[in-house]
Amino acid sequence: MQRILDPAQIEGLTARSVPRLLAPDPARLYARRAARLRALAAQDSLGGYLGFAAAIAAAQHEAAAAIAPALPDPAALARAREHGMPPLPAQGLARGAEWRAALQCIVGELARSTAFPPAVAAVCARLRDAAPAALEAMATRLLAADGTDPDPAAAPFVAAALQVYWSALAARLDVAAFAPTAPSATCPACGSAPVASIVKSAAPSSGYRYLHCALCATEWHRVRVECTACGATQGVAYQSIEGGPAAIRAESCDGCRRYRKIFYAEHDPEVEPLADDLASIALDLLLADAGFARASANPLLWQPPG
Ligand SMILES: [Zn+2]
Ligand SMILES: [Zn+2]
Repeated sequence: MQRILDPAQIEGLTARSVPRLLAPDPARLYARRAARLRALAAQDSLGGYLGFAAAIAAAQHEAAAAIAPALPDPAALARAREHGMPPLPAQGLARGAEWRAALQCIVGELARSTAFPPAVAAVCARLRDAAPAALEAMATRLLAADGTDPDPAAAPFVAAALQVYWSALAARLDVAAFAPTAPSATCPACGSAPVASIVKSAAPSSGYRYLHCALCATEWHRVRVECTACGATQGVAYQSIEGGPAAIRAESCDGCRRYRKIFYAEHDPEVEPLADDLASIALDLLLADAGFARASANPLLWQPPG
């Protein structure tokens, strides 16, 4: 007997054979991101900024090798799984001191470089000398992600350290146990917003779209041609820069008037969601002109002091 399946059923069936969740690998993630940022910096008018972001990513690689934070206890993980909650919530997890060790490693590395404006060294010195309680308050404010950070100059450094900490935890997690059973707009591991999405080109995820967590770098499957902000399937359109790279588009939604970028590894296997998002600001300007708002921020975007 033959059965005819509609496209949603087919997607549901095939998606069962692809991983719903991909855990980060901090030992490779930051080195790869740094290399990508350096390559993008060499060919871009934003080169100086991308070079700075590359130095942050390279420092994150050092920091990731230096810390080994412990997961929440098994009972807490089981409770999260039972209630369908992220086991490593960006807001609410009792952070270990390891993230501050990662921060000191990152500002130490950046302070050693003479390639950046004096404002960078000044922020590094300020963070190096800050009291732990002040740093914890900065982290809590940043993780609230409400767009009211009063210290934007320090934010990328603090965000970079928190990324190292959360990706180290997510890498230790049994991610399969936390795969979402319904389409999720936020990271199943830590509850943060994705920075962008990527369509993979390598087995077993080839052709499938994943959202990339801005904090812990966990990736989770989400069907294509669906607004990743509001879930709408109608009114989703793809915009790109004329004559620009085929690997980069913005997926915009007429319903909620928001967009996120989507990267296609089949067109460029080196594409990296956070790095390529930073390097494609021209696309952000195009979407802003068309009246669309970014669905969520890039944590490494640095705003120099006043
Ligand atoms: Zn996450
Ligand atoms: Zn939408």
